[in-house]
Amino acid sequence: MMRTVVLKCPPDDLEKAAQVLREGGLVAFPTETVYGLGANALDEKAVAKIFHAKGRPPDNPLIVHLASAEDLPQVVASIPPEAIVLASRFWPGPLTLVLPRKDEVPLITTGGLETVAVRVPDHPLALELIRRSGVPVAGPSANLSGRPSPTTAAHVLEDLGDKVDVIIDGGPTGLGVESTVLDLTTSPPVLLRPGGVTWEALEEVLGKVILDPAILAKEPIEEGPVRSPGMKYRHYAPKAKVYLVEGQDEERIAARVDSLAAELAAAGLKVGVLATAEGAARCGRGLVLIGGSRRDPAALAASLFAHLRTFDRLDVDAVVVEGIKPVGLGLAVMNRLRKAAGYNIIEA
Ligand code: AMP
Ligand code: MG
Repeated sequence: MMRTVVLKCPPDDLEKAAQVLREGGLVAFPTETVYGLGANALDEKAVAKIFHAKGRPPDNPLIVHLASAEDLPQVVASIPPEAIVLASRFWPGPLTLVLPRKDEVPLITTGGLETVAVRVPDHPLALELIRRSGVPVAGPSANLSGRPSPTTAAHVLEDLGDKVDVIIDGGPTGLGVESTVLDLTTSPPVLLRPGGVTWEALEEVLGKVILDPAILAKEPIEEGPVRSPGMKYRHYAPKAKVYLVEGQDEERIAARVDSLAAELAAAGLKVGVLATAEGAARCGRGLVLIGGSRRDPAALAASLFAHLRTFDRLDVDAVVVEGIKPVGLGLAVMNRLRKAAGYNIIEA
């Protein structure tokens, strides 16, 4: 494999990166959600490189990225009317639709499923890369499997520096959490993963949308059929043990965060705290990172994964996290935090 090249100056470089994709290589690229690890979605060998580089379990399917909704027929066997409505409303954007797979999409891309997940990302470099490559681009988050998703090119370099051909550096991603995954193969549609497009926004367009029970599960789902295989794995985790403090009352949560940090510190542990701006005012202990205001879940989402990686660099033994309300973008934040905590949830 050639040495990883970090590209910063499109469009000449984008042409090179598009060529790498056409030739079956791996290109990490920025999107509006997190950085993706791209390969030609129709090329089994290229897609196998994604799974190998990330150490991703083979039954965890990939999202296929298109430059335009007009390209849907390349990968999807049939397009329900809801998909057209949603695409015109939310694409380009952080909404992934699960639809019937076309035979041309190899099973390795879909984790063995007869459905394929697709979206059009809202990022000019991603769109131009896909357009120039001329192929649908499979792109999971560009992190080692299980680690926090990358929101900068430096995060990609940290995890996959020696395993990808090209990294396109587009600066920090805007949204910071992954796309919403919506299964349109059942009626009513099922929200499989909360993300940048909120449940509330989807219900406004579609009427009823069922929330998959695994999304807010307080325990790992290990048995029975899992509709979105990615959901069953521990994810987004820093190296330290994570304690997620949850409850109804914001002040009680903040108080419990501080007392738990004190208990862990007294036990001799190096403690990190991930707090809201309001909660941080109460924190007397630990290395405190502030995600943003409680009233601004977008700021909390944007900084979440970078903060989890910072705790790794600070080499803390334990991270105490202040939970927020699971509404709007807060639902995606809490879903990621529960997984990062390995469901180690402390009720305040
Ligand atoms: P990632 O690419 O790491 O952001 O993860 C992609 C997510 O989309 C995972 O949670 C997958 O389980 C989910 N996903 C992808 N394809 C499908 C599919 N065909 N059916 C259900 N979920 C899917
Ligand atoms: Mg991922």
